[in-house]
Amino acid sequence: MSTSYDVINPTNETIVKNVPHLDIAATDDVIATAAKAFTTWRTIAPGERARLLRSFSQVVTDHREELALLEITNSGHTRGNALWEADNVANTLMYYAAAPERLFGRQIPVPGGVDITFKEPLGVIGIIVPWNFPMPIAAWGFAPALAAGNTVVLKPAEYTPLTAIRLGELALLAGIPEGVFNVLPGKGSIVGNRFVTHPLVRKVVFTGSTSVGKQIMVGCADQVKRLTLELGGKSSNIIFADADIAKAAAGAPGAVFDNAGQDCCARSRILIQKSAFDTFMEHFEVAVKKFRVEDPNLATADMGPLISKKQFDVVESFLDEPIAFQGSAPTGPGYWMPPTVLLPKNTQSRSWREEIFGPVVSVMTFEDEAEAIEMANDSEYGLSGSIWTRDIGRALRVSRGVDTGALSVNSNSSVRFWTPFGGFKQSGLGRELGPDALDSFTEVKNVFISND
Ligand code: NAP
Ligand code: MG
Repeated sequence: MSTSYDVINPTNETIVKNVPHLDIAATDDVIATAAKAFTTWRTIAPGERARLLRSFSQVVTDHREELALLEITNSGHTRGNALWEADNVANTLMYYAAAPERLFGRQIPVPGGVDITFKEPLGVIGIIVPWNFPMPIAAWGFAPALAAGNTVVLKPAEYTPLTAIRLGELALLAGIPEGVFNVLPGKGSIVGNRFVTHPLVRKVVFTGSTSVGKQIMVGCADQVKRLTLELGGKSSNIIFADADIAKAAAGAPGAVFDNAGQDCCARSRILIQKSAFDTFMEHFEVAVKKFRVEDPNLATADMGPLISKKQFDVVESFLDEPIAFQGSAPTGPGYWMPPTVLLPKNTQSRSWREEIFGPVVSVMTFEDEAEAIEMANDSEYGLSGSIWTRDIGRALRVSRGVDTGALSVNSNSSVRFWTPFGGFKQSGLGRELGPDALDSFTEVKNVFISND
């Protein structure tokens, strides 16, 4: 029995397109195709694989406007963000296009012969993508996977399949051979789960909620299947009184409300040193009220709608705590919510502890450095965070003290394709991006060659 899904534009609630879903039999067919394609893709000369990835990157760049428009329509991302996301796919492909020719092994001194290591590809890689950043999160998996000589089966989120489907077509246009990069729209419980249970899928790359990630980890244990998890977050924006408070406050809305707060790196906790609270809140209120929530097609938009009615209802359920102030949002059709600043009663409040994944931030004060670190670490999550101070020693001490994977000092940006990204604690397992990501798409093989 095959099903399909009506993709909804979250800006106006109209149906964009009906997308057919794969069932288990169709999923198995594509996995078999990808396994067959692996036998040739892994043997393609490194320089040729590099050339094909550069070509894929260029084709994505040539279609950046089209891809961005698809994402604006499917996901309500602002025009500025959607273009950045398409470019991030092209950049990530270009970065890993340098890898096939540099996938060095070692020569290790041993008695009686020569010992060398190889970084062998794994086979078929299953990538499961959430709806919040459909393009970049897909590329952080498929670019290094393909570069290392693997083939890919990619399942986009049910809500947001359109850019992934188009990227599959663009790969073919760029000359990537048939069967190497496959996009499989469908349900998580069917297509995604099949990646976990199918023995020919040798690794799962999952980005999404911590609860589904745990189920996938359990499922992968059965075949000792390799696994990377990028899960939820509850990250802190820690602002010391010695910081440039006006600058920290001006940047704080973007640090949490970007992509309508549907960002695993959202700094949804603001920790402000008590002596600077009043000054910060004055500047912050001005910045929140200036944050433009409007039609994401407009070049001026800072934020669009939430992805779905379901997500809207989840986020709205957090708004029963004391509100400091709110921004504005359009009314009428679409899943619009104004940016909202909460003042939770204490650190046990739901808004302080749970990932909200919407345009809501909670503000609390701290006395000193030790308390700031303790409050930031009081979470099961550990993904990102920001530290604002002019004191370099303090910046270093707090950076080392906060248990998260991607921190920024006097900045709110945590993702660069050059550098590793991933979580501590229940925010994930393994790292994506940067020079080391290739290690998680290869197995080390050791070969000893006797002198005899
Ligand atoms: P989700 O429900 O966990 O879904 C993520 C993906 O997994 C979707 O493609 C989903 O398919 C699929 N899926 C669902 N159940 C599955 C199962 N049993 N087996 C295999 N696949 C399954 O998460 P979401 O609601 O899309 O995204 C929001 C969450 O993702 C937030 O918690 C957020 O923090 C987290 N996230 C983390 C990062 C990071 O890098 N750390 C990045 C983005 C998002 P369907 O669409 O069909 O349900
Ligand atoms: Mg879900």
